[in-house]
Amino acid sequence: EDSPYSVSNGDPVVPLPQSTDRRWSDTSVYARKKVLQFWVQLPCGNWELGKVLSTSGEESVVKLPEGNVLKVISETLVPANPDILDGVDDLMQLSYLNEPAVLYNLEYRYNQDMIYTKAGPVLVAVNPFKEVPLYGNSNIEAYRKRSNESPHVYAIADTAIREMIRDEVNQSIIISGESGAGKTETAKIAMQYLAALGGGSGIEYEILKTNPILEAFGNAKTLRNDNSSRFGKLIEIHFSETGKISGAKVQTFLLEKSRVVQCAEGERSYHIFYQLCAGASPTLREKLNLTSAEEYKYLQQSNCYSINGVDDAERFQAVTEALDIVHVSKEDQESVFAMLAAVLWLGNVSFTVIDNENHVEPEEDESLSTVAKLIGCNINELKLALSNRNMKVRNDTIIQKLTLSQAIDARDALAKSIYACLFDWLVEQINKSLAVGKRRTGRSISILDIYGFESFDKNSFEQFCINYANERLQQHFNRHLFKLEQEEYIQDGIDWTRVDFEDNQNCLSLFEKKPLGLLSLLDEESTFPNGTDLTLANKLKEHLSANSCFRGDRGKTFTVSHYAGEVTYETTGFLEKNRDLLHSDSIKLLSSCSCHLPQAFASSMLIHSEKPVVGPLYKAGGADSQRLSVATKFKDQLFQLMQRLGNTTPHFIRCIKPNNVQSPGLYEQGLVLQQLRCCGVLEVVRISRSGFPTRMSHQKFSRRYGFLLLESIAAKDPLSVSVAILHQFNILPEMYQVGYTKLFFRTGQIGVLEDTRNRTL
Ligand code: ADP
Ligand code: MG
Repeated sequence: EDSPYSVSNGDPVVPLPQSTDRRWSDTSVYARKKVLQFWVQLPCGNWELGKVLSTSGEESVVKLPEGNVLKVISETLVPANPDILDGVDDLMQLSYLNEPAVLYNLEYRYNQDMIYTKAGPVLVAVNPFKEVPLYGNSNIEAYRKRSNESPHVYAIADTAIREMIRDEVNQSIIISGESGAGKTETAKIAMQYLAALGGGSGIEYEILKTNPILEAFGNAKTLRNDNSSRFGKLIEIHFSETGKISGAKVQTFLLEKSRVVQCAEGERSYHIFYQLCAGASPTLREKLNLTSAEEYKYLQQSNCYSINGVDDAERFQAVTEALDIVHVSKEDQESVFAMLAAVLWLGNVSFTVIDNENHVEPEEDESLSTVAKLIGCNINELKLALSNRNMKVRNDTIIQKLTLSQAIDARDALAKSIYACLFDWLVEQINKSLAVGKRRTGRSISILDIYGFESFDKNSFEQFCINYANERLQQHFNRHLFKLEQEEYIQDGIDWTRVDFEDNQNCLSLFEKKPLGLLSLLDEESTFPNGTDLTLANKLKEHLSANSCFRGDRGKTFTVSHYAGEVTYETTGFLEKNRDLLHSDSIKLLSSCSCHLPQAFASSMLIHSEKPVVGPLYKAGGADSQRLSVATKFKDQLFQLMQRLGNTTPHFIRCIKPNNVQSPGLYEQGLVLQQLRCCGVLEVVRISRSGFPTRMSHQKFSRRYGFLLLESIAAKDPLSVSVAILHQFNILPEMYQVGYTKLFFRTGQIGVLEDTRNRTL
């Protein structure tokens, strides 16, 4: 046997950190014997390259690069790729597709500022947390001319444009990843490229300016990201028949409203509040009775007012300029700022207890009068809305006084609604400005920047919605990739009986089934006035335990097996967040305002709908004015989104955050691995592994290995040479397939040949 080492030839199982998933073991006995180096997992979880010095029984002695010698169970060694594959720009080129190999390859590239790598059809982007010299006009030019072929967002955008024109099919660029992984930056980089290639009409400039606006109003500093988007976004960019940008449309998803009234220590509320306080002109300050950010209760609670390296006053100027560009009039801008000031002042409204039942009345102070002035309502009506509740009981109206905590809730609910409506209103204005004319003959490219899968110590309604959306997107992703894989085999004439792939339909059904699914049951419970978080949890357990993706836990918690892992949700706050109640008194108050924005907000809150609604309590105004639950609205949006994406050719970008401290040059293997698993990159790799992942054209294969032939053969064409090589090396027939243009190999096969080649050279 020519192998320099002999290692265990038992059934190979590669133990993995956290998961002991055998699907990843990619060591055939045959391959293992010929491998020169192995990945060794250190006790800290990281992988290091090692060479086997000796093997006895079940154990091997391996030597690590620094000279350390380690005794390990032979079966835990994972074969490493030959050096020539270091830093390949497509993970599919790796001969051994195992987790350490993928991690190492990404790290190898990352250390050289090559932050982009392909994983088959998917682009993986590792956040550099520093400026990298990959962008700007000269780079755009290089990708346009295709003189640079290394993986890049530009290359994805370029392919999207070309395929849109060539196939006359709409395209989508779907970006996902954890908070802080670089989704929003990536979306902007893609937009830059599209604007550069499709520009000319001037509308591209407007499109780019939507970014600073949406970021000011929808992004905030969190512990994970100084510029964290607190909403999902789809921007659809339209092109004319000649490939020029003709307009665009923005759709947003699920803005985190709660941030307006509460946020955690060290985080901030939405940027625009601080920008306004820092950057408003003296005239504007006076009009809005504006003071500094430190004076507002809503902003005080997190004890954080600034972001390193960010000048809020300067940003404010940039935002107003961007608003000018998307044609929001100065007058409207002032109304927008008035709403922001109103929200801030609302937070300062305090209450005094007026009787011994803890009923309260708002203090008549500067905050209250300023709010009334800014939204244009009568101060007494504001007082009433914040301290009373009109309730319809059959045909009577009864007035109930609010207790302190109820009044605070009513106040905060009003602040949140004003802000959320303001955000939607702005998006509407942007869309009016970017609207594609009546001639919608052209095609479009949509860019989706949406929160990735989330799993925290405590998971609430927000994670529930976000993870549901990710489950849907994952299915889209899976189905697309499998289609692509199959097509390639079929095109090259390969007999490929479909490999099974794990579908997450079961988990989606858990969410969507009617009437017994998570969403339906949640909505049903939300309509019961007496429903509580506990009754909800019990109801879910009662009806869903048969689904293998569901597990009822103790008390108010339940667990869902998502494709990316198990998540335990706490139902605390689910009903309230799903109902998203703004009291009819508050809506009435807004509609009575003399300013046009509050009026517009009030009417947008009254949705006339045929759909099931969340309960009689939540009817505002007449009997036919009803509101949809948040979950139902979100599901509807998501279905619309999937329908739209379903008609496009998708391009996937998976963003990876290499460390949790937003710092350059730091690559934490464990963290990266966990994200690769969550966002399905390793799954792509696995999918391919179950087929014939390594592909090489007959030409390339015969050129590279032809000299290893011991006997010369008659036919010199690449195909014949290739087949002769395969025979000489006794590559088992089930390990490869010969296609019309390419050879297809099972994992590890090229590694064997490559090692022989290296020994021969
Ligand atoms: P996400 O939208 O996924 O939460 P962001 O796109 O906001 O993450 O990125 C977080 C931060 O990471 C950015 O503010 C920026 O500092 C840095 N970053 C992300 N992508 C890049 C990039 N391609 N080049 C340089 N810095 C980047
Ligand atoms: Mg973002």
